[in-house]
Amino acid sequence: MEILHTAAELRAWSRRQRISGKTVGLVPTMGALHAGHASLIRAARESTAAVSVSIFVNPTQFAPNEDFSRYPRTFDVDCALAEAEGASVIFAPSVEEMYPAGAATFVEVAGIGDRLDGKSRPGHFRGVATVVAKLFIASEADRAFFGQKDAAQVAVLRRMTADLRLATEIVVCPIVRDHDGLALSSRNVYLSPAERTRALALSRAIRKGESLVVAGERSAEILIASAREILAAEPEVRVDYIELVNWATLEPAETAAPGTLLALAAWVGTTRLIDNAVFA
Ligand code: AMP
Repeated sequence: MEILHTAAELRAWSRRQRISGKTVGLVPTMGALHAGHASLIRAARESTAAVSVSIFVNPTQFAPNEDFSRYPRTFDVDCALAEAEGASVIFAPSVEEMYPAGAATFVEVAGIGDRLDGKSRPGHFRGVATVVAKLFIASEADRAFFGQKDAAQVAVLRRMTADLRLATEIVVCPIVRDHDGLALSSRNVYLSPAERTRALALSRAIRKGESLVVAGERSAEILIASAREILAAEPEVRVDYIELVNWATLEPAETAAPGTLLALAAWVGTTRLIDNAVFA
């Protein structure tokens, strides 16, 4: 499996695939790969003939007080996992490659980009949209694969792709969870054993919301209150947000209609985790 370091190399690789009649997939990641990422690579493998996996811890999506410098970096293990799942190529650019000296161009998705995580983490989605636009442009991928785990990110990227008329189709894959329900995240390694147990409150709150909806409850107020109660019962879990929103616009919804998203973020000790459910 080849490892590419520049946008020009990725573009040349992609064009060679196209010339030989292959469709091209892209799985953008920040590395520290786990079974959630593996599921995206498998989905890409099943629907495109040549799969690129990008590994880039994108500095512009981290605020100065966030975990950019201590974000887990496990490059060699990541490459082995990606290869085992059928990736054709790894794209591992340097920060200077993605942001050349003097870089002044950013992608801002107004409105949507300031909701949910964008509200709690100002500038976060500007960084995400910018790097993903660069990856789409360099890879010329037919399809790119993202996890529903980052549901607000999906909404931002769908809007960006539509607005910029980008040719890459966004495919969303289900949330992969640990055996006990905790959504897999590269940040779970930050949790102490006690915190990991407390973190289960997030998936419990989401599951409770899902079961209320299955039982016929639709009121945002009740669904949010129920999630809040479950999180409040857990010591040292601090809610960042719990919202029911339209998944396309991230605007608040009053009822859990099809296409609404119950999303939450909470701090467990010093680690911020997210979880969600989309209603059918
Ligand atoms: P990250 O490396 O955290 O930036 O994530 C890269 C991609 O993997 C994003 O599209 C995430 O939504 C996706 N992802 C992360 N965790 C999971 C999970 N537990 N299940 C499914 N996809 C995930």
